[in-house]
Amino acid sequence: MKRIAVLTSGGDAPGMNAAVRAVTRAALARGAEVFGVRNGYAGLLADTMEPLRARDVGGIVQRGGTVLGSARCPEFAEPSGRSAALRNLAARGIDGLVVIGGNGSQTGSAMLAREGFAVVGVPSTIDNDVYGTDVSIGADTAVNITLEAIDRLRTTASSHSRAFAVETMGRDCGYIALMAGIAGGAEVIALPESEIAPAEVAKRLRGAYQRGKTHALVVIAEGARCGVKELMRHYAESRDSIGFELRVTRLGHVVRGGAPIAADRILATRLGSAAVETLVQERHGMLVGASRNEIVTTPLAEIAGRTRPADAALLELARVMAI
Ligand code: ADP
Repeated sequence: MKRIAVLTSGGDAPGMNAAVRAVTRAALARGAEVFGVRNGYAGLLADTMEPLRARDVGGIVQRGGTVLGSARCPEFAEPSGRSAALRNLAARGIDGLVVIGGNGSQTGSAMLAREGFAVVGVPSTIDNDVYGTDVSIGADTAVNITLEAIDRLRTTASSHSRAFAVETMGRDCGYIALMAGIAGGAEVIALPESEIAPAEVAKRLRGAYQRGKTHALVVIAEGARCGVKELMRHYAESRDSIGFELRVTRLGHVVRGGAPIAADRILATRLGSAAVETLVQERHGMLVGASRNEIVTTPLAEIAGRTRPADAALLELARVMAI
């Protein structure tokens, strides 16, 4: 492996930069040249890539977002788009590629691998829904940001005997809501993986009020069928019987931003380095992940089109803790 390109694709996640740094420095240590591709697959098509040296990736381990930029690139899902990308890679003599990104990005890398290019994927998404790894880069930082918001809302909620519904990110996977909900002592957690009706949420809030709680928190993943809108509609009809006043906070993109926590920097460093090792060993078409704190590899062909759901069994634990 003489020349390795690295790109970040799809939704940005805190820790992507630490992964770019790790790929770059692990590859340089192996004697390879490294190219950083701008704006994900769009940069492969537009041939916007620059050499990365050790100093070029200095001072980024702690930065959120991605210094390489990210973009959605629908053309890459077409065979003609991938042919253009392969032509540009060949013209520069690049013989290996590391793709740092979520499910869509790894579906793209699986296509490129199927077409014969040496690709290794690194899972990075705040949603933590990539199959083949217990945790993706950025997910636990997003949990911590959500948790900080929950903790802050709890102090104001208890001063006013209020309930707060906090909506966090997670369109298809409720990992952030589930983990932040458990860590933040939420009374109710609503996930896309497990249906809960607004009437049931209201019933639990009423129960919490009757048991003498001074505040209550509902953590809702944005993709849950019981969303904040449904909850507020139901609440408007049964406000008097619930006891708590209900307020809503939508965290939105705040959950994506900011510096990665130590766990994500360490994960990114391990996975970025493992991606280079996997390429060097000519084990192409793999996703490197972490399972039970070990580095594991799974064929990208097995990852593509699959998702990892949040462990909805933990909802029962959260329910018991809310008595
Ligand atoms: P994420 O990686 O965060 O899930 P997206 O789903 O937006 O983000 O995917 C990022 C990019 O990956 C897309 O813009 C596209 O270039 C590429 N991609 C997604 N799905 C496919 C696919 N089925 N085939 C090829 N490329 C894909």
